Amino acid sequence: MIKSFAFILAFVCSASIFAQNLQSPSGFLGYDIGTKFTRHHQVMDYFKHIEAQLPKQVKVEQYGQTNERRPLLLVYLSSEENMKNIEQIRENNLKNAGVLEGPSTTNDIAIVWLSYNVHGNEASSTEASMLTIYKLLTENKEYLKNTVVIIDPCINPDGRDRYVNWYNKTASVPYNIDQQASEHSEPWPGGRPNHYLFDLNRDWAWATQVETQARLKVYNKWLPHIHVDFHEQGINEPYYFAPAAEPFHEVISDWQRNFQTQIGENHAKYFDAEGWLYFTRERFDLLYPSYGDTYPTYMGAIGMTYEQGGHGRAGLGVLNDEGEVLTLVDRLTHHTTTGISTVEISSQNAKKLNTEFGNYFDNSKLLYKSYVLQGHADKIESLTLLLDKHEISYGFAQGGKVTGFDYWSSKQGQLNTTTNDLVVSTNQPKGKMVKVLFEPNTALSDSLTYDITAWSVPYAYGLGAIASKSNVNTNDKLRNGYATPVSNSSATGYVIEWNSMKDAQFLAELLKNNIKVRFTEKPFTTQGKTYNRGSLIIVRGDNKKVANFDDKVFDIAISNNRTPNAIISGFSTSGPDFGSPDIKLVNAPKIAILSGDYTSSLSYGELWHFFEQQLHYPVTSINTKDLSSTNLSKYNVLVMPDGYYSGFLNEDLTDKIKIWVRSGGKLIAIDGALNSFAGKDDFGLKRNQTEDSIENNQNKTIKYADRERDNTKNLITGAIFKTDVDNTHPLAFGYDDYYFTLKQGNTSYSLLDTGYNVAYLGDSPKNVSGYAGQEALKQLNKSLVFGEQRMGSGSVIYIVDNVMFRSFWENGKLFFVNAIFFVNNNLAEL
Ligand SMILES: [Zn+2]
Repeated sequence: MIKSFAFILAFVCSASIFAQNLQSPSGFLGYDIGTKFTRHHQVMDYFKHIEAQLPKQVKVEQYGQTNERRPLLLVYLSSEENMKNIEQIRENNLKNAGVLEGPSTTNDIAIVWLSYNVHGNEASSTEASMLTIYKLLTENKEYLKNTVVIIDPCINPDGRDRYVNWYNKTASVPYNIDQQASEHSEPWPGGRPNHYLFDLNRDWAWATQVETQARLKVYNKWLPHIHVDFHEQGINEPYYFAPAAEPFHEVISDWQRNFQTQIGENHAKYFDAEGWLYFTRERFDLLYPSYGDTYPTYMGAIGMTYEQGGHGRAGLGVLNDEGEVLTLVDRLTHHTTTGISTVEISSQNAKKLNTEFGNYFDNSKLLYKSYVLQGHADKIESLTLLLDKHEISYGFAQGGKVTGFDYWSSKQGQLNTTTNDLVVSTNQPKGKMVKVLFEPNTALSDSLTYDITAWSVPYAYGLGAIASKSNVNTNDKLRNGYATPVSNSSATGYVIEWNSMKDAQFLAELLKNNIKVRFTEKPFTTQGKTYNRGSLIIVRGDNKKVANFDDKVFDIAISNNRTPNAIISGFSTSGPDFGSPDIKLVNAPKIAILSGDYTSSLSYGELWHFFEQQLHYPVTSINTKDLSSTNLSKYNVLVMPDGYYSGFLNEDLTDKIKIWVRSGGKLIAIDGALNSFAGKDDFGLKRNQTEDSIENNQNKTIKYADRERDNTKNLITGAIFKTDVDNTHPLAFGYDDYYFTLKQGNTSYSLLDTGYNVAYLGDSPKNVSGYAGQEALKQLNKSLVFGEQRMGSGSVIYIVDNVMFRSFWENGKLFFVNAIFFVNNNLAEL
């Protein structure tokens, strides 16, 4: 490996002849590249230096900013000639895809997009981005004659700097190659995710994070032919590049498959010459649409993941299990090699890339032509916001019947449409992405996969839907929009129904403004309208101390697009009156959430983001290491994210939590957090299946080579199930009597004997979408999905299926809000 480094240095010296003032990364940074980790601002400075030296060939553009205010940069490079026409090249490409209208003068110019360091602690690739641009502009500039290269040096600067700053302050000099040295063991949460601890390589389709949102805007302006996402894997793995593993999604074209192989063969040439090991066609498949390889693939590109051995454990150098010292220099050299090789092969095939890219956007053969979605206006709106992020067009139905596959019943059905129903057609350039996101069931060529196998958007958004084989005509624009609310100073109060996250945001803002709000546990009718369970009532008499009560309520209503109804009298036509014990005050809860070691950083991040960026309600984060000394009585609600608490929750801590619950606390346990309570004294939670019976499922004489595949019968790799819901329980207010849940694994719990089973699976549950093995299905028989157990004056709420998972299962979020605000609302005053 030292040899290859010497080779780079030799190249770096000779290259300076080509551009007088153009500095190599090593020259610019003042240290040999790969001998230190470069901080984000230095990386940005280097690209700006390149732009300043070669302004006719390089353009740097800031396309966004992270949560921690680091810039997100894109760097465009090509020949001078191409850069002069860059806007035309871009527009021609969009015309070729049909995204822009107008005759397409096909380019013969390849567009290659290289994305680095989406996982912050896979830190070699940002280093490689600097060497790659330098090489492309010096020794490989021939390729730029017919190629536009777009470099994103770092998709995730907050995560990368978290890693780099930690490493820089931790590592010894010289670096220690002993795997056990502290410099090879990152502390929680590690540098992989972004500020809110989201995995940005699972966020492309849902675009919940600012980095993704900013990137999609520029990505959709370009739609490149090639997209590479640079990663790192474990220190004992060599290098992975295309072609990818099965399963491939069925929208992937033969050309996309074949060109992956060509690219891989080109890389192999360089790797073989150097004696570097690699593997292909294993492990990293092309199915789940939210990755940096699949998303671009479904948008017409050859989307690929490249994985170098390294990761957060590798530091500047580490002795791996094969006795090799793996250095940062090795890692960035390999990534530089595949980056350049990608540009080379793309340049060689530029014409073909353009033709095939255009062909990808022919969507005439897709089975379903239109997806029609029906449901609450807020949910429809929430879905249109997602479609807007991808610049997918949609319209609204014109009325009349539509027949097709009915998502609710999982069979042929029909829908009487109204002009409020959303229609998303595959007869548009991004039709294949529409299919991927909306289709009821994704075809699987292999059940062994790297991620979830179900994400169908109608289920995630809680909308009724029909997939139709014919085109459904649409109106361009909606419908009434939100009605402007009208205040009435002689009203007893205002009432608003409880249906969506929008209502939840409205409630949260009222509470933050010290406005007292009630909710009803029983339906009531007043002024000719029936209000369901969960409807909010803002009573004037409760808010005597609030100055300008009506104005204040209506300012908040307008900013949340809510339309509360003015009610003249608290005397209801039927059902409870406003003063009834069934109409309860929402006690604004003080909420704490566990973070740190033993919690899943992803799950904690989802909740953190939810409170801060979605619900806008304050929450206190408590580190697990402080829980034993924390005064829990300051909080009404304690949220335990998904996690691995078995080594943490000892008897003392469990007792402390129980005492707090008994005195009126509300514990919300999510996913893995339930494990620590199952079978424990006073908790009514039991695993549905014992370890013994799982063991009995194993085929003991299975062949060695078939073992992994045989085990898939015990797996659920993200599958959607229809649950029964008791929507008379406050945990399910705002829901129907069914709910489609996303199961991420096969862990299951029995129905509670002494508690409320609010959402559950009955006899012989069947997955409506996604993969679930036959043995795993048996374990789900009569199992809990969401439930509440009373303990003393408090409650434990069990959320078996994490409704916050990657923040995309929109329709699950209200369960969590209900858990906070409505369930067992008799909170002790603090
Ligand atoms: Zn990665």
